[in-house]
Amino acid sequence: MTSSFLLITFAICQLIIAVGPSELLRIGAIDVDGYFSVHPTELASVSSDFGMLKSPEEPLAVLHPSSAEDVARLVRTAYGSATAFPVSARGHGHSINGQAAAGRNGVVVEMNHGVTGTPEPLVRPDELYVDVWGGELWVDVLKKTLEYGLAPKSWTDYLYLTVGGTLSNAGISGQAFHHGPQISNVLEMDVVTGKGEVMRCSEEENTKLFHGVLGGLGQLGIITRARISLEPAPQRVRWIRVLYSSFEVFTEDQEYLISMHGQLKFDYVEGFVIVDEGLVNNWRSSFFSPRNPVKISSVSSNGSVLYCLEITKNYHDSDSETVDQEVEILMKKLNFIPTSVFTTDLQYVDFLDRVHKAELKLRSKNLWEVPHPWLNLFVPKSRISDFDKGVFKGILGNKTSGPILIYPMNKDKWDERSSAVTPDEEIFYLVALLRSALTDGEETQKLEYLKDQNRRILEFCEQAKINVKQYLPHHATQEEWVAHFGDKWDRFRSLKAEFDPRHILATGQRIFQNPS
Ligand code: FAD
Repeated sequence: MTSSFLLITFAICQLIIAVGPSELLRIGAIDVDGYFSVHPTELASVSSDFGMLKSPEEPLAVLHPSSAEDVARLVRTAYGSATAFPVSARGHGHSINGQAAAGRNGVVVEMNHGVTGTPEPLVRPDELYVDVWGGELWVDVLKKTLEYGLAPKSWTDYLYLTVGGTLSNAGISGQAFHHGPQISNVLEMDVVTGKGEVMRCSEEENTKLFHGVLGGLGQLGIITRARISLEPAPQRVRWIRVLYSSFEVFTEDQEYLISMHGQLKFDYVEGFVIVDEGLVNNWRSSFFSPRNPVKISSVSSNGSVLYCLEITKNYHDSDSETVDQEVEILMKKLNFIPTSVFTTDLQYVDFLDRVHKAELKLRSKNLWEVPHPWLNLFVPKSRISDFDKGVFKGILGNKTSGPILIYPMNKDKWDERSSAVTPDEEIFYLVALLRSALTDGEETQKLEYLKDQNRRILEFCEQAKINVKQYLPHHATQEEWVAHFGDKWDRFRSLKAEFDPRHILATGQRIFQNPS
């Protein structure tokens, strides 16, 4: 009790120093049910992120809210101060470029559902939705909804991300071709705006805010509650990987699969590029374990690029006989290398949580907490073949330093009114270069080398006029942000002026000028 009182007092004093004596009374009066912390370990921890690319800039304090009202009280104080100060929500800190940071004069709101008694997920099985705190991890949303035999429809590959964090971007995985990104599966939200108002928004109520916040990079409000649409959860997953040596055949098959929306379809369509390490060393490919009966060497490509299609069919235990037939019918239409079929079968929850297993392995080898110069691009379908020639078969050489995902999505599953930005074509691909840098590795594994390669990839796209859009975007100048948002810029800027006029929120994205 005494120590938390001291922490709060210290935090408030620090804030006062930062914003000047005239704000003393205002900040001293922030009365939260959660607590502020200025513990050095915590300040250090919230100033870094998964990317580990920026020198950490410690904020003044961290707020652990126990309710939306706590968040609102802090934002109201920041908004009402003579010199406004930044307030950034932090989900699980899995950004790459400091997007969840608040800078030296700011306060980070640690949204993670934890010690402060934020609300538990509330499932309404009759109405097929769950209400969750904005800082809830998707893995915990899954655990809770499965108690009712239900699950969200659209996922990310990795579940240790927060609801508010992925909804601020889009939230994509192999289900997006059919269900759309996670932002297309939200029914309602409570949002604390940059003026410190708690606003409920949905398709019917405060519609502008609702669509603006989805994919809005935290610029318009802090999501404290989201209502996520659910479906009956399958029990098992047939998980299949097949290989291609021709990029054209590979993408033709992927595009064919994402055009299927009836009962007979795969439920998840992804893929990845195999440039170098082969199949076994790639951390996303634990699937190709030495126990797999098919010899990986039998499909060796003599050093050229291979493409792996990854598909799943969900089913219930009671359908275990029909799933084989359905998979067989679907596979007959595909043109992969016939000897390259790798199949496994597992529980739905184990499939969804698959990347966490890779995380644990990498952690045990001290390879998780390393710099991650990730680059995620949406590439229009009409230019994906040029991208393949220029990047996979060109710039990358024969070393990638991590998985390279590639899969197509249907634009009509994305709501144009959201703030998320995608290329201007009906089908576009995600290309995710998920690389890890090593300090004592080969030259091609070093951070500077990988950063330079990213720069060359972006430069190549610009020169070849491939109109890519960055996913989880990071831009250095406002000019670049204007180009990123394209047609959506004017609306986004005007929403910012309405809901965060003093530029308090998510300053780590570096889109707008600092608070004024
Ligand atoms: P943070 O990084 O903490 O925050 C991200 C941004 O959102 C910041 O600007 C922050 O201020 C803002 N924010 C956070 N919480 C809120 C809130 N409640 N309200 C408003 N704004 C908020 N993404 C995919 O789409 N698909 C994937 O398959 C995928 N896989 C990934 C795998 C790994 C291993 C990692 C590290 C990331 C992956 N991502 C994926 C990226 C992920 O979606 C982003 O990192 C995203 O930012 C979510 O992370 P977070 O919850 O830690 O948010």
